[in-house]
Amino acid sequence: MKTTIHRAEYVLVDPQTLLKNSALEISEGGRIANIAPWREISSRTRGGTTDWGAAILMPGLVNAHAHTELTALGNRLSGCDSFTDWLSRLIAGRKAWDTEQLRASIREGIALSLASGTTMIGDIASSGIARDPALGAPLRQVVFQESIAFSSGLAEEKIAEIKGILDKSESGDFYRPGISPHAPYSVSGDLYRGLAQLARDRSLPLATHIAETKEEIQFLRTGKGDFRNFLKARGIFPEDWDPPRLDPIPYLHSLGVLGSRCLLVHCNYLDAESIRLVARTQGSVVYCPRSHAFFGHRRHPVRQLLDAGVNVALGTDSLASNTTLSMLDEMRFLRRKRKDLKSAEILQAATLNGAKALGSGRSLGVLKPGNLADMTVLEIPPRMKIDRDRAPDQILEGAGVCIGTIIGGRIAWQGTCPF
Ligand SMILES: [Zn+2]
Repeated sequence: MKTTIHRAEYVLVDPQTLLKNSALEISEGGRIANIAPWREISSRTRGGTTDWGAAILMPGLVNAHAHTELTALGNRLSGCDSFTDWLSRLIAGRKAWDTEQLRASIREGIALSLASGTTMIGDIASSGIARDPALGAPLRQVVFQESIAFSSGLAEEKIAEIKGILDKSESGDFYRPGISPHAPYSVSGDLYRGLAQLARDRSLPLATHIAETKEEIQFLRTGKGDFRNFLKARGIFPEDWDPPRLDPIPYLHSLGVLGSRCLLVHCNYLDAESIRLVARTQGSVVYCPRSHAFFGHRRHPVRQLLDAGVNVALGTDSLASNTTLSMLDEMRFLRRKRKDLKSAEILQAATLNGAKALGSGRSLGVLKPGNLADMTVLEIPPRMKIDRDRAPDQILEGAGVCIGTIIGGRIAWQGTCPF
């Protein structure tokens, strides 16, 4: 078997397991064939070796929630009065772009992701722009087709539209489709129900923005507040609409949306009952720490979610509410903000938990034989020693600059973007 080899001073198999002076043999199919001490591999290898030197090879970083389409909005939406004010400005900003500008924005988002060590992304697509290989390669992507319509009368048409896009989507190693009903203030109950059924029929992951703001809870409980005004101002509030009088998570449960393939994005405001419901239905929560901070939300219930056994992944969200698309930046920010989270938990959220959320938990997230060879390479400062027990702390306290991104055993980024 012809193999390629990646060697470094350290290999972080998972947040608990650090190997020194080791190497990975990668099969032609892009899977890990073997991990062993370098002296063992070097004595019998015939493959080409990339020696990363004073560096850590770690499982590839997974950004479980992003909107690469919005990359070009970077840093232009600060100083908003409210969430709905931000949303209005975002919609207006995006509307002005033509297809080429959208494609450029997606490409920039993908390039920024690769350059910061991201190997897989859960990306929301609202434009219907096809992710042809030239646009997406070589990042591993789950692209969630977004659907928006608050009027029940539009549900059938919108479901047919998503079916049409899915029928044309190719699914492969680097690209898989998903479905994304946007949020409970922009998607009718009927549309949620229909898209949840479609996701089940086709065994696809479903992502939705949920429990993001206090105003969303007020809207679902009472039908009043900022979201009602927002929809009215846009002329799309159905006067006969009855609020479900439920909190966001029980509302999704009543529509049949919750389940193990469901990505619940944000979950900034959850009570104990909602946390239990998320745990029981085995969905994943995607926490976006810097986007959460951008809007000044109250303390995120991430600790309670982890304690309840929920699969918590991390996402950057878009540059419309964040400063970079780097998962290293995201993890380091979270490490500084939340002393009640262990570095190993944060690292696992950004690797294995993200892979699980995106349906790849059996082939990604941990470096072991048989898994796909997706890795992030961090260069460590000269003379720095990485300690077996403190590796996650050292990484999140700032040791390591991303110098390489390996996807399926191939170098997808190494100082320059390959596409
Ligand atoms: Zn989002």
